[in-house]
Amino acid sequence: MVPSRLLRLRARLAPIAAMLNKMSRSCVFCKIVADDAPANIVYRDDQVTAFRDIHPVAPTHILIVPNKHIPSVNELTEEDAALIGHMFIIGRQLAVQDGVDQSGYRMIVNTGSHGGQTVFHLHLHLIGGQRMRFPMG
Ligand code: AMP
Ligand code: ZN
Repeated sequence: MVPSRLLRLRARLAPIAAMLNKMSRSCVFCKIVADDAPANIVYRDDQVTAFRDIHPVAPTHILIVPNKHIPSVNELTEEDAALIGHMFIIGRQLAVQDGVDQSGYRMIVNTGSHGGQTVFHLHLHLIGGQRMRFPMG
């Protein structure tokens, strides 16, 4: 691509980039990852942060979030495959840590309005410590 076309493309993408940047700067989970908002953090590494849900629905209710801002499953790409796998492996580890691995638990990712998503920074719910209601939906 010739440089002038690249510059035009960059100018067209700038407002979108600015919007995404603004969204992540006002994102409560980004703030928790950056230690700019309080949370009961139970695990963190270079890829993910896990903390207790502020309104737990069961004795164990932990959110595992990627450290980078991904709004929802809708924005995932092939490049995120290892990160998503890591979120589940850490979830499994935290289930053991909270003593719910043998009794069982749920891992849930809500997406969009019909999915019940309220915080638009991807997160995996780990819920356990009581028998779950079924069916869902
Ligand atoms: P979802 O409805 O799947 O988007 O889940 C969002 C979850 O984030 C809810 O269970 C909220 O209780 C939880 N939540 C929102 N704000 C915070 C916060 N500051 N710290 C911990 N959990 C939060
Ligand atoms: Zn975020």
